Amino acid sequence: MLNKLSESIYYLSNQNDKERPTLGLVCGDKYSLVIDAGNSLQHAKDFLQEIESLNVPPVKYLVITHAHWDHFLGMNEFDAVVIVNPLTNQLLQAWRGYSYDDRSLKEYVNSKKMSAQCVEIIKNEIPEREAFQLHSPDIIFEKSLTLDLGNKACVLEQIRSTHTDDSTIVYVPDEKVIFLGDSVYGTTRNSLFHYKKSHLLPMIEDIQKFDAGYFLLGHESICDLDEMNTFWKELKLASEATETTSLEEAIECFTKDNDRSPNENELFFIKAFVNDQILNSQKA
Ligand SMILES: [Zn+2]
Repeated sequence: MLNKLSESIYYLSNQNDKERPTLGLVCGDKYSLVIDAGNSLQHAKDFLQEIESLNVPPVKYLVITHAHWDHFLGMNEFDAVVIVNPLTNQLLQAWRGYSYDDRSLKEYVNSKKMSAQCVEIIKNEIPEREAFQLHSPDIIFEKSLTLDLGNKACVLEQIRSTHTDDSTIVYVPDEKVIFLGDSVYGTTRNSLFHYKKSHLLPMIEDIQKFDAGYFLLGHESICDLDEMNTFWKELKLASEATETTSLEEAIECFTKDNDRSPNENELFFIKAFVNDQILNSQKA
């Protein structure tokens, strides 16, 4: 079932056991816009079936928030204009060159081009995958693009992010709703989950520029302004305390700075910022 956020905004909740991220729908008087295509043709079909039962204007646009497989592999199912930023477009090109037969998929897992989970979903939820070829995006926008769905503006913008360098957000000014994709999450390199300290404040600045009351996240569904402000605060405090590759020292510093020990979230973030320091020290 779709969740209704307002007269013109709906979303399909993320489903972690199936690696399915949150999908969004914004409806104007003339057209509708979808945010993210789903992790498979089946995910996209399930979403489209829900949309059909709503009796909303036709889906004219599909925005892909970033080039992670769980956000775009369902895109062929949409008869819509697909919009991405230049880096997402570039990253999707590799996926268009892939073959989806057993032998190729096995090879991609071995060479770490695809995760084992991704291949499992492809095998289960993309029928006739031997002939599957990912479509091309239709519009490549630079920095920012505003669409009018008929008395309903949607602002697309590429922002600085701790998750990927190709993060696009969708902001609906009328409703003060922003779809963030995965942009506020950390990322994994050399099997280390980390938060890029250097990207944190620029990202918060890019997101807070938009006057939003509700925030849709790729793998959490929805946060209100209070929840988001708590999230920012915990991230910032964790980041400020972490100038070292030692977890122990970072926790000690946090405790001294804040006159209390870190809570569970803050501890998780501190570990991720410590991992960032470790990765940076390896680079140097
Ligand atoms: Zn992602």
